[in-house]
Amino acid sequence: MRVVVDLNRCQGYAQCCYAAPGRFELRGREILFYDPAPPNHERAEIERAVEACPVHAISVAFADIDLKRPPGTAR
Ligand code: SF4
Repeated sequence: MRVVVDLNRCQGYAQCCYAAPGRFELRGREILFYDPAPPNHERAEIERAVEACPVHAISVAFADIDLKRPPGTAR
């Protein structure tokens, strides 16, 4: 699994940190650290983080599937 956060879009709301606390972490008020290659068994947590992000900054790709982006966001 591959995770990409558009840091130009991220506003530091921290919803991803609550949804997947082991994979997303805010340091300070707006510096987001994240795991770009979380293990596949954490897929449900990562998908919750994607859905929780209010600005649709998180994209995730699975092994043989194209990037999954939240509905309503452009490529
Ligand atoms: S939920 Fe979205 S906006 Fe908030 S910190 Fe995570 S990636 Fe950034």
